[in-house]
Amino acid sequence: LPMPMPMPMPVMLNHLHAPPIYHSPEIYWRPGNVIVSPARDEYFITKFLGKGGFAECYSVRTRPCERDFDFAMKIIDKTRVKDVSLSKIYREIRLHGHTDHPNIVKLYKSFEDERHFFLLMELCRDETLLCLVNRSEGRGLPEVISAAYMREILSAVQYLLAKRILHRDLKPGNVFIGKNGGVRLGDFGLAIEMEQANPHSFSGTPNYLAPEILNKKGHSEKSEVWALGCMLFCMLTTKPPFETDHLENTYKRIRQNDYSFHKHPYISKTARNFIANCLEPDPVLRPTVNQLFYHAWMVQYQNMSRTKSVNDIRHEHVD
Ligand code: ADP
Repeated sequence: LPMPMPMPMPVMLNHLHAPPIYHSPEIYWRPGNVIVSPARDEYFITKFLGKGGFAECYSVRTRPCERDFDFAMKIIDKTRVKDVSLSKIYREIRLHGHTDHPNIVKLYKSFEDERHFFLLMELCRDETLLCLVNRSEGRGLPEVISAAYMREILSAVQYLLAKRILHRDLKPGNVFIGKNGGVRLGDFGLAIEMEQANPHSFSGTPNYLAPEILNKKGHSEKSEVWALGCMLFCMLTTKPPFETDHLENTYKRIRQNDYSFHKHPYISKTARNFIANCLEPDPVLRPTVNQLFYHAWMVQYQNMSRTKSVNDIRHEHVD
């Protein structure tokens, strides 16, 4: 009798020989090899993009020779994740997979085998807003460009809030630059449904945590607005507003609302006001995301960001 066929699994196939199913990924996930999904879709690996906490990211192509079919494939190693975190990854995939917005990294498909999750995503440029800020050599991004980016980020966050999703990790490092130069919010690792957010567990990136999160009062839309204020401060000055060398000192500064513009005299009054509104210690007094769209600083650049010249500068900056 013939041997029973193994279950169809998303294995890495090399055209010349069938490799053992679970071998060192470094050997099999390399350009030229193919990832086969349970539905038998083939993804040709073209490039290694980068490595995160539990994941590796590759660019893949659904047709070997056509650039139009390029995607990013994030491969998460389940064995490196504890059980609790496994359910978090399912949540990340579920929440991210339910989004469809021009300023959010598109998650097209996900599948898994015993050891890995595979996430097929929109391929972005190999950089984030943080890279652009760091490349500005301490000068920060021009306000006109920051305003164009901020408008797109606000649009993505507004969309998530309408779906009752809190991102909870808004920061320049999680804002990718799309192939067209526009902003794509990514990394839904900490995203949660508003109703599920537990006030006692705080998660996020220390520099971007709102005081109410530190005080265990819970994460709300207003905490997202706080993070957006930190993000704009960072875009204009290259550093988040409360950064110190020690976590405890950072938390102290956040609690005392201890930040200043005195080293950054070039920042306009309206931009300072936008940031100060976002960094209002009392979340009740902080504006909503919808209100931020109508802030004078946003309005001031509203028409300009549609003009060709600003988009040109923006793309020059990205290229
Ligand atoms: P992290 O764990 O740091 O959030 P990820 O595991 O999400 O990182 O991704 C690892 C690296 O892969 C990132 O630093 C980034 O350079 C790259 N990357 C992730 N997603 C994409 C994408 N959609 N398009 C292009 N590059 C990506």
